[in-house]
Amino acid sequence: MIIHDIFSKNKHDKMKKITVAIALFLSSLTVQAQDNEIYRMKEFARENKRQIINIPDVGEFKILKADFHMHTVFSDGQVWPNVRVQEAWQEGLDAISLTEHVEILPFRQDVKVNTTRSYDLAKRMADENNIILIKGTEITRNTPPGHFNAIFINHSEGFIADLDSERDDEAIGKVIDQNAFIIWDHPGWRASTIEGSYEWVDFVDRLHKNKALGGIEVFNGFSFFKKALDWAVDKNLAVIGNSDIHNLIAHTYDLDADHVNRTMTLVFAKERTAESIREALDAGRTVAWASKYLAGKEEHVVSLFNACVSIGTAHHSVVRKDQSGRELKTNYYEIVNKSDLYFELELTKGDGTEEIILYPSSSQMITAAAGQDSLEYKVVSAYVRSDQHPVISFSLRE
Ligand code: ZN
Repeated sequence: MIIHDIFSKNKHDKMKKITVAIALFLSSLTVQAQDNEIYRMKEFARENKRQIINIPDVGEFKILKADFHMHTVFSDGQVWPNVRVQEAWQEGLDAISLTEHVEILPFRQDVKVNTTRSYDLAKRMADENNIILIKGTEITRNTPPGHFNAIFINHSEGFIADLDSERDDEAIGKVIDQNAFIIWDHPGWRASTIEGSYEWVDFVDRLHKNKALGGIEVFNGFSFFKKALDWAVDKNLAVIGNSDIHNLIAHTYDLDADHVNRTMTLVFAKERTAESIREALDAGRTVAWASKYLAGKEEHVVSLFNACVSIGTAHHSVVRKDQSGRELKTNYYEIVNKSDLYFELELTKGDGTEEIILYPSSSQMITAAAGQDSLEYKVVSAYVRSDQHPVISFSLRE
């Protein structure tokens, strides 16, 4: 019995060994088989992430990043609507509007065109990615008066698709009836070829007097229409920056370069909602942003600057004697830019560092002669009129 038991145990062990050996052999076969299958080279994929554009709150307002003018294949753009949402998510935007032309439809043979179809197709992805998608369109009349974006529309029924100038009033009336927020687009678009295309024309004046015009594109893509800034300031209209993108953003903008972003509008909104954006636009609380440049009403540009930039107390002093033996004391200060905006400053009043570049999210050292209360600079990278930069002041504390 005992012998038999031992024998059977040995036999059992032997069987176990064989089983293990077979299992190992099979598993090595499996590994080899896997090696012959598919290797996903994920290390080469674009990192799936959203850029954060840091801009601090200005008083009670959040600064929302918005692009209210872009196109897809549903008018004369090069991309499907979801691509616009992907771009906006990657680039850190809060709100976008797909503004298809009512009249310019080069792909009408290929795409079943409908002005708000791109909105419908993009809405789900926008919701999932926390991008505020605003329903819009572009009313594209002959220049002048030119093109008008209408955002916060409800529907696209009854729009005028022909370009008969006699019907301009009727065409814009279709979006006025919907209480849309209307933006005069790129007012100097054909300035060199069409007379009157960079003028405050009667049509626009009538819209303004009827309180139907809400804003003007001062920045459109790579263009800065300086006269348009004066019109916006003088007539209290929202200063708008939009990309008017037709191709891919990354195809058009050198996003890998320093200080380059798509042209957009910074909206001073009470909340991060579509309703708050509308309220801010109606109140004209915006600053247009194009990479290194800002444009807006003085109060908004200055309050934005002051929210982003601060100066510390003097952290160091140096005393030297001038030729007559008089002692001169120089104080050292650190200036911090906690935003991703770019500012260039030139000294206009006081004795201190003459030129300052405040790079995004960085600090800079300046000096100032002791005994002064403040230094004044103009922010030459920002515009508050066509020929005027905002002036800011740094309080000096020893
Ligand atoms: Zn456009």
